[in-house]
Amino acid sequence: MSGYTDLKLYIDGEWIGAERRRTHRVVNPATGGSLGELPLADAADLDRALAATERAFRQWKRSTPEERSRVLKGTAQLMRERVDHIARVATLEEGKPLRETRAETLAAANLFEFFGEECRRAYGKVLVRPTGTRSLVVKEPIGPVAAFAPWNFPVINPARKLAAPIAAGCTVILKPAEESPASAIEVVRALVDAGLPAGVAQLVFGVPDEVSRHLLASTVVRKLSFTGSTVVGKHLLALAAATVKRTTMELGGHAPVIVFDDADLERTVEMLATAKYRNAGQVCVSPTRFYVQQGIYERFVTAFTQRARKVEVGDGLIERHHMGPMANPRRPQAMEALIGDAVSHGATLRTGGERHGKEGFFYQPTVLSEVPAASRIMTEEPFGPVAVLAPFATLDEAVEQANRLPYGLAAYAFTESNKRAMLIGDALEAGMVGINSVAMAAADAPFGGVKESGHGSEDGAEGLDDSLVTKVIHQA
Ligand code: NAD
Repeated sequence: MSGYTDLKLYIDGEWIGAERRRTHRVVNPATGGSLGELPLADAADLDRALAATERAFRQWKRSTPEERSRVLKGTAQLMRERVDHIARVATLEEGKPLRETRAETLAAANLFEFFGEECRRAYGKVLVRPTGTRSLVVKEPIGPVAAFAPWNFPVINPARKLAAPIAAGCTVILKPAEESPASAIEVVRALVDAGLPAGVAQLVFGVPDEVSRHLLASTVVRKLSFTGSTVVGKHLLALAAATVKRTTMELGGHAPVIVFDDADLERTVEMLATAKYRNAGQVCVSPTRFYVQQGIYERFVTAFTQRARKVEVGDGLIERHHMGPMANPRRPQAMEALIGDAVSHGATLRTGGERHGKEGFFYQPTVLSEVPAASRIMTEEPFGPVAVLAPFATLDEAVEQANRLPYGLAAYAFTESNKRAMLIGDALEAGMVGINSVAMAAADAPFGGVKESGHGSEDGAEGLDDSLVTKVIHQA
């Protein structure tokens, strides 16, 4: 299709087409039509990538902060110049509206810019010692990283996997999702065009389990970085344990939203509905379990339902659409199962609850209220355009419900009371808390979860630290 990217692997400084390799058909989720055939790496390709990453690391770890900064800031600049093309490609393969893919591309550019500065600040320290002796604590790049990125943010997920390790002096073999390869190719192309040396960043696609087993079995790889579901994350952690690799894991979430009866109702509904239906709810920090205090529960349900009905659903390439399709056929199927189960447990379907249109993988913006704790959707991450509402009476009860699950990625609270804001901010078990705010990600802010939502941080100074190891040198 015209305007879509030529699908290739990037290994040891070379763009590689399908030739005799297996391929995977990439599909436009708005139409179900084919976008292109993606070459899948075989064992020889992965071995070549491993050899190149080891070789490149010996050089790149010695590069100066100025060299790293030049490449990272150059990448940011190129991504800004190419924003229209990258956004279109990302919408074609992932489905979300162009305004979202544009914003995502610019956020990815900001991330490269930020790490283009932060690479100068991998500071160590000098310990207090008697005169004539020294103990130095130094930070060194951890080594080659095997990184796995999912399809839901096809531009910024790959950018997150690359920017901090490259800034730290590491090399990366990145396997993005096979569903959204072109966006990742565009990110790597910007790095290459900005002067990144061969072997520092490599891009492979393949059969996910084959690629992860191959790369994680290698002692060349010193770190695993994964974003995706908790189930797959646990499997990869077990593989990484065999060679005691460092890990950064961004896994699933099921974000609680606590709306107190003193919240600014209109503003809160607007903010939450926009956040809920962003990317058709396929966002790890998506507000999902809405606990609304009894005093405003009915008014909130009515206002939120009215707002959900105004979301225009359709092909993300058409500007007026607020919400595109789900990214793959598994998601509408999952919605049908979870929503059907909730209704059978006594939940009220206020709006939505069905597929939308005749082609592609669209699902209607959905609101479920009075959802019982026993229904699957109150426990399993829905990852779709469904808001799940239930009333609560006291702050303690809301906290108990919010912290009930093994997840701990994002959590939200809405209140005009500073005291409540402080109490709830402290009580929520989450890596990221939004109070009267749904903005979770910024280049300078650590992004990550606790409990089974994962560990470690991407973004911020903490993201750089996650790509470094600590060494102490005692000298007498
Ligand atoms: P999935 O669990 O099959 O895959 C999730 C991601 O992991 C995909 O990108 C996939 O390519 C990758 N993956 C799967 N098996 C792998 C393996 N053995 N080795 C390496 N990578 C592997 O689920 P899915 O159907 O693609 O997505 C649905 C679920 O994934 C959602 O319910 C959500 O929990 C989770 N998810 C989370 C995020 C996030 O940002 N944390 C992003 C996308 C998906």
